[in-house]
Amino acid sequence: FAPWDDPQAKPLIQFRNVTKRFGDFTAIENLTQDIYEKEFFSLLGPSGCGKTTLMRMLAGFENVTEGQILIAGQDMANVPPNKRAVNMMFQSYALFPHLSVWENIAFGLKREGKPKAEIEARVDEMLRLTRLVKFAKRKPHQISGGQRQRVALARSLAKAPKLLLLDEPLGALDKKLRQDTQFELMDIQEKTGTTFVIVTHDQEEAMTVSSRVAVMDEGRIIQVATPAQIYEAPNCVYVADFIGEVNIIDGSATREGDGYRIAWAEGQEPFVAKTPSSFSDGQRCHIAIRPEKVAISADRPDDMANAVEGQIIDIAYLGNISTYHVKLGNGQMIKAQAANTRRLSRRSFTWEDRVWLSWTDTAAVVLES
Ligand code: ATP
Repeated sequence: FAPWDDPQAKPLIQFRNVTKRFGDFTAIENLTQDIYEKEFFSLLGPSGCGKTTLMRMLAGFENVTEGQILIAGQDMANVPPNKRAVNMMFQSYALFPHLSVWENIAFGLKREGKPKAEIEARVDEMLRLTRLVKFAKRKPHQISGGQRQRVALARSLAKAPKLLLLDEPLGALDKKLRQDTQFELMDIQEKTGTTFVIVTHDQEEAMTVSSRVAVMDEGRIIQVATPAQIYEAPNCVYVADFIGEVNIIDGSATREGDGYRIAWAEGQEPFVAKTPSSFSDGQRCHIAIRPEKVAISADRPDDMANAVEGQIIDIAYLGNISTYHVKLGNGQMIKAQAANTRRLSRRSFTWEDRVWLSWTDTAAVVLES
């Protein structure tokens, strides 16, 4: 039972009708959202949608124009940043260049006047957790970017905050290191039981690490759900399009049995879809279908609810899979993905082949226009 599905669970963070204005510009608009203890919660959205502003308000670096932020049930309105059980790790890591890795991690604890033995034990624990024991004596310029990232993380976790805010924590790392570090982050988050709220504009990263993802646009949260729900059941075209690849077909819905027939082009057989959304007859809608859910075959399959003919106009070979760009009779483009389980020399389809695309009646999501 996930905490967000449990009516008894108490949220660690509550945004209640939070609005943030800079002059007459509204950066966050009437946003309400709960985040639970031990979550790995991602704020995902395009540049300028308000992710960093939301974090800065949570950390107390920015005040709230309207509404309330509560942490562990307490209103944060008059609580300064250093009195909140929150730590924020910045994009730049902001390590002290003249201090060693060990001293960087110890810095916050020393400033709090913790006893020497306690500081030593805690720093050693953080070094082990982030696999930095070997580098304790080095200065930031003597270690790699990935190691610097781990020092920043160790330093942020040293004071055992209830909540750690990470603003694009892996932004400076190259793709391979970034992927490895995502797993390290998840592991560390699990071991420490800290609640992580992370800002990212990398959808793959959000999908990999998160318990839940909040997809944002222009100061609002558009959808909050687990990565699988966001991917499989996006609530609008914006979310479907923002996460992964998707084909969008415009049409109009008419109820039939426990689903809909969707007329989409003159002279073409309508598509059929079962969908939780409800439409009135003739209502405009969008069919959203992921490329990997579209099967490609030489002949019309007789066991699929939807089948349509087209011509391959482009193929993108991606190693494990290929994406086929197929043009339908009315000019609509559809992408279909197929696994490259056979050797390339035996690949079954090539440019200009006429093929059938097909999918089941539950493969697509039908969204409001
Ligand atoms: P990015 O991914 O590029 O970091 P973001 O989603 O984190 O973007 P924010 O930094 O939260 O976006 O900014 C949200 C909006 O608020 C932007 O349009 C930005 O220009 C504006 N904004 C942020 N801080 C200020 C400020 N101090 N004064 C005026 N406008 C601001």
